[in-house]
Amino acid sequence: MKKKIWLSSPHLSGHEMQYIQEAFDENWITSIGKNIDEFEYSLAQYMEMDNHIVALNSATSAIHIALILLGTNSQDEIITSSFSFVASANPIIYCGATPIFIDSEEDTWNMCPIALEQAIKDRISKGKKPKAIIVVHLYGMPAKMDEILKIAEEYEITVIEDAAEALGSSYKGKSCGTFGRFGILSFNGNKIITTSGGGALVCHTQEDKDKAVFLSTQARDPAPHYQHSHIGYNYRMSNIVAGIGRGQMEVLKDRIEARRKMHDFYISLFKDIKGIKVFSEPTDEYYSNHWLSAIIIDPEIAGKTREELRMALLEENIESRPLWKPMHLQPVFSTSPYYETDVSEKLFENGLCLPSGSNLTESDKKRITDVIVDFFSDH
Ligand SMILES: *Cc1c(COP(=O)(O)O)cnc(C)c1O
Repeated sequence: MKKKIWLSSPHLSGHEMQYIQEAFDENWITSIGKNIDEFEYSLAQYMEMDNHIVALNSATSAIHIALILLGTNSQDEIITSSFSFVASANPIIYCGATPIFIDSEEDTWNMCPIALEQAIKDRISKGKKPKAIIVVHLYGMPAKMDEILKIAEEYEITVIEDAAEALGSSYKGKSCGTFGRFGILSFNGNKIITTSGGGALVCHTQEDKDKAVFLSTQARDPAPHYQHSHIGYNYRMSNIVAGIGRGQMEVLKDRIEARRKMHDFYISLFKDIKGIKVFSEPTDEYYSNHWLSAIIIDPEIAGKTREELRMALLEENIESRPLWKPMHLQPVFSTSPYYETDVSEKLFENGLCLPSGSNLTESDKKRITDVIVDFFSDH
């Protein structure tokens, strides 16, 4: 069997162990220490913002903390993108609140501003204004932030940006994750950089940051004994894990460049193949990290289906994966309100994510090319 080519696998810099060793040497191996401070600082530098970033044990925890900081409870409705990974929506349920799903638009595959406004009007007419909008930048593609922020402002609804897949992406020159009241980053194993598992909450004030640290470290009141007047969580990133993050930050730029080159590779690979569209930025106001490269197949034109291509790649031990299954189609959210545009269901039906890792070699690319050229040449 040929070596497996993964969709997106961890790609270390080589310096991670050195920072982990430092944590051991100084015996700072829990939830405070230099690795955490430096990791947060370098993220803030990268995103060109003040250091109000809080490193946590996952992006899912970061969304949960953001919702708690907004005071989310069982009376609330929270809007989010239907076309996303389930972790964008689960924390809404952790708070006992109701998720309201919004479908995608064609250009960015992200939250459709028109459906968003319809949803807000409809929810208000039913007697409840949504408390927050969790907008996702899927596959690293920035959402239509001007339109979404304008609507959020008009109806005075707080924005949380799920930039778990979009570290290094920007919209009109501004980093994804810095537009909303809160931003979310993920360092899970398959993301553009990894800490093995981890995430961050991007805040914009010291007050929010302090509250997030407090809540994510068991909400301990200042007292010599253990005193608690709030429910807390054990969500802080450890100083060991943050050491991996420090090593990864040294190469973030290279990783983004490599992922963007994979996107270029697919553009040229599919250039002459009819019925295939490589997912790309709609204009140069959008800058995607191209965390995952994705294509849409029109089976009528291509004469092949998404599943056939996926199986052909799998036969050569090359991983590919259908696009995210929209939340409104998930059994667990079948009764949640949903405002549709018809876009995400088609994306799910005909879309495929292709190997996109920053560590793919020329010979990996050759194997991918051979399968794809062969697959589309025999019809
Ligand atoms: C990966 C991901 C998350 C969750 O990140 P974790 O760090 O694994 O909790 C949330 N939202 C989106 C869009 C993601 O891709």
